[in-house]
Amino acid sequence: MTDSAAIGVGDGTRAVRAGLPEPVKHEPTLPGPVFAAHFHLPGDPTGGYAYARDENPTWTHLERAIGELEAPDAGDDVETLVFASGMAAISAVLFSQLRAGDAVVLPDDGYQVLPLVSEQLTAYGIEVRTAPTGGDAQLDVLDGARLLWIETPSNPGLDVCDVRRLAEAARARGALVAVDNTLATPLGQRPLELGADFAVASGTKMLTGHGDLLLGYVACRDAEQAASVRRWRKIVGAIPGPMEAWLAHRSLATLQLRADRQNANALALAEALRDRPEVTGLRYPGLPEDPSYAIASRQMRRFGCVVSFTLPTRARAERFLQALRLVDDATSFGGVRSSAERRRRWGGDDVPEGFIRFSAGAEDPDDLVADVLRALDEAAG
Ligand SMILES: *Cc1c(COP(=O)(O)O)cnc(C)c1O
Repeated sequence: MTDSAAIGVGDGTRAVRAGLPEPVKHEPTLPGPVFAAHFHLPGDPTGGYAYARDENPTWTHLERAIGELEAPDAGDDVETLVFASGMAAISAVLFSQLRAGDAVVLPDDGYQVLPLVSEQLTAYGIEVRTAPTGGDAQLDVLDGARLLWIETPSNPGLDVCDVRRLAEAARARGALVAVDNTLATPLGQRPLELGADFAVASGTKMLTGHGDLLLGYVACRDAEQAASVRRWRKIVGAIPGPMEAWLAHRSLATLQLRADRQNANALALAEALRDRPEVTGLRYPGLPEDPSYAIASRQMRRFGCVVSFTLPTRARAERFLQALRLVDDATSFGGVRSSAERRRRWGGDDVPEGFIRFSAGAEDPDDLVADVLRALDEAAG
């Protein structure tokens, strides 16, 4: 599928063909990973592949693919850059766009590495302001800021903010907007279409979905900003290996299948947990009674595979995790195998001791729900 063919087709069609080169007789559909540090380069370097910290053909295919998913109607107007991890991508945007004396607004309930990033930004003379994801509190601290960083839905609290509204407010004040799109994936929401300047994500999670690689990306609307993010990637060298890039591209083909199955499982699970007396603080943006539902259903096309809830005590949560048979006790989320963890064990997130972040996998829904309900019963006994 060429760029123009990415327009006007469904998500599944787009996902299976995303980023594939034009067919060449006797060549594979998705060319294998190109393992090269340098490329033949006689004479003057006049563009094209030269040194693999800057560009690699395997990334090129993947970058096109992610660009088609994040902004199917934008063609070549959106530039996508892949990174070694989600954090590499996040840092690339923040540290390439901000200068000493600038102010940035970060979520105070976002990804657990953001406080470390915040310390580093502060050390470089950048003013860090924070606001919670839900409730539009970002608006109160936006004046004079250079960049607004949004994470929606937030990890692990699953609050949602109105990207379009915040992006308009930021634009009116001359601030750039970046959205961490990790949890939703581009099939769940398209931040650039909602007015953001950058869609940034960890490809480690749902995007690639098999729990076997780390990856990050930045999709940029503006060519100059893209150039400065690219420059940052070159300086820091936080690049993905060709094997990871290729595996990621291969996994994109099933993104729609995985997302639909896993999101349906997350909803089924949330509905089952709703009736359990020992469960409090149940959150899933796709549950109609969830505080995030109204905004989420306006800006999201899929609600993600993460459900969060709280069990009465730490011990009860630990017994629950231990009793699960189909669910791995592991961090991260978005994989085809369900996983769950007691988030408080890391110490970072501001959540109760019994708080569970649950990532629904691609198991049969009845099996998954039965396993969870049985584990809850066992944890109670
Ligand atoms: C995991 C995660 C990241 C960091 O991604 P890595 O690939 O682990 O570096 C950033 N943001 C969110 C919301 C995440 O869940």
